[in-house]
Amino acid sequence: MADTQTSADLRRFIGVDLGGTKILGVVVDPQTGEVSARRKAPTPKDEPELTAQAIGDVVAELIHEVGQPVAIGVGVPGLVDHDGVLHYGPNVQGVLNLDIAGELRARFGVDVIAESDAANAAVAEHRLGAARGHDHAVIITQGTGIGCGLIVGGRLLRGANGFAGEPGHMLVDADGHTCACGRTGCWETVSSGAGLANISLQLVAEGRAARIVELAGGEPAHVRGEHVSQAMAEGDSDAFVVFDRFATWVARGLGSLISILDPSIVVLGGGLSLTNENFLDAVRERVMANSMGGTHRPIVPVEPAQLGEEAGAIGGAINAFDRFVGGANS
Ligand SMILES: [Zn+2]
Repeated sequence: MADTQTSADLRRFIGVDLGGTKILGVVVDPQTGEVSARRKAPTPKDEPELTAQAIGDVVAELIHEVGQPVAIGVGVPGLVDHDGVLHYGPNVQGVLNLDIAGELRARFGVDVIAESDAANAAVAEHRLGAARGHDHAVIITQGTGIGCGLIVGGRLLRGANGFAGEPGHMLVDADGHTCACGRTGCWETVSSGAGLANISLQLVAEGRAARIVELAGGEPAHVRGEHVSQAMAEGDSDAFVVFDRFATWVARGLGSLISILDPSIVVLGGGLSLTNENFLDAVRERVMANSMGGTHRPIVPVEPAQLGEEAGAIGGAINAFDRFVGGANS
C-alpha cells in the first residue's frame, strides 16, 4: 500500500478516541504528531447502539474537511480483539461485541484498526512523548478507571487475543471495594479517580473528610477525585491523608508491574498526576520498595505523560500507520 501513496498522503491519518463523555477525532501526521484538524462529539451514553454511528459521524466530518485518509485508527475503552471487535468494556456496558473496525471500514472504504483507548495513548507516549526511546515501558492513564499500554521490546504487548494490558483489574484487596467490572478489590478501585472517592469513603467511615464531603454537596456517595484535589488545594489535612493512602496503593500496583515487566520507565497520565507533583514524588519514594529486590534494581523513573488529552486519538493514527503502512509497531 505504501508505494501507491504520495508523501503528502502519508501525513493524513485519522485517529479517534471514544471516551466516557466525548468522542475526539483528529487528522494527524503519525510521524510527527502534528494535528491538522479535530472534531468532538458527545458519546451517546443513553443509546449505546449508536456508538459506531457517532464515531463514524466524527470521521465523516473530518473527511469532509480534509479529504480521504490513508487509514483510520480508533480507540475504545475495553477488550478489543485483533480484528477490531470490542468484546467488553466496564464503562461502556451497553456496547458489546461491537465490530467497530468493520463498521467504519464498510462506511468509508479505508483500512481501520481498533485498539483499547489506553493502548493507543501508550503508543503515542512511546513514539512521541514521555516514553520516547524506552523499549520497555509501563504507560498508565488514570481517569475514572485505570487504562494501560505495555511496551515490551519496543512494541505494544497485545497478548493472544488482543486483551493484554489491564492491570487496573489486578486483584489487590480481597476485602476492598466493588469494581466497575463487577469484582471486588481491583487495583483501579484504589488507584484511579474512583479510587480517590473510595479512599475518601474510608475516611468518612472514620468520622473524617468533612470538607471533602462538603465539596461534594454534602453527600459522601457523590465524592469524586476533583473534590479531593480541591480540598487539598485549600490545605485540608484529611485530603492529604487521602492522597497519601492513594499514592501508597498506586506505588504497590506499579511495584508489581515493575517486578513482572522490568520496564525502564513508568508514565502516568490522565489528569490526576499531571496537576500534582507532590503525588508523583510520593509514588516515586514508594515504588521501588514495592517491587521485588527493589534496592538491587536501577530506580525506575515515574514521569508524567506529555501528550495530554489527545494522546489516545494521536496514538490511534500511529497504530494505523504501523499496521497498514509498516512502522515499528506493525
Ligand atoms: Zn475490575
